[in-house]
Amino acid sequence: MTEQPENPSEPNTPRKSNDRVNRRPGVRKSWVPTREIPSVKQLETSSTRMLVRGTFGRCPACGAGKNFTRWIHMSDRCHRCTLKFERVEGHWIGFLGTNTVLVFGLMFILLMSVTLLSYPDPPGSWLIWAMVGIAVVGPLVLYKTARMLWTAIDLLMRPLRPGEIDPRYVVNDPYRDNPTGL
Ligand SMILES: [Zn+2]
Repeated sequence: MTEQPENPSEPNTPRKSNDRVNRRPGVRKSWVPTREIPSVKQLETSSTRMLVRGTFGRCPACGAGKNFTRWIHMSDRCHRCTLKFERVEGHWIGFLGTNTVLVFGLMFILLMSVTLLSYPDPPGSWLIWAMVGIAVVGPLVLYKTARMLWTAIDLLMRPLRPGEIDPRYVVNDPYRDNPTGL
């Protein structure tokens, strides 16, 4: 018995994406303003400040700490400015990459420093064990830094959207100041 084609008018049929509609000439996504404003301008801060906050495991938008419980469990939103940390699905793939870069960077710095300082007789076994120790403990020690630093980097790459943060923290809001996007 052959399967009957799905009837798009049935109520249980998933709705098709409206991307095709949004890509049509002359049709604008209602939530995208004509001119996007970078997050740093929306929050009236600097990229350096956001990166430093992230490096110290703090919210890159407002600087609040204590967004972690039991070290590894991070809140969905900042308890002060309500910034949504996981901004898109799969957001934390970037965090894993950041954590890896930080750990390998630390290992590289230690290896180069010890080798240059002890040249021409660099230490052998203890340096290897130190590398192994960093590889095992480093990801946990740098966990908070990596998560918040990646959030800061993501904010620098993609402007804030409505609903991602308490609007009282947004100084220059393109959606509030220009809601039609025209
Ligand atoms: Zn915050």
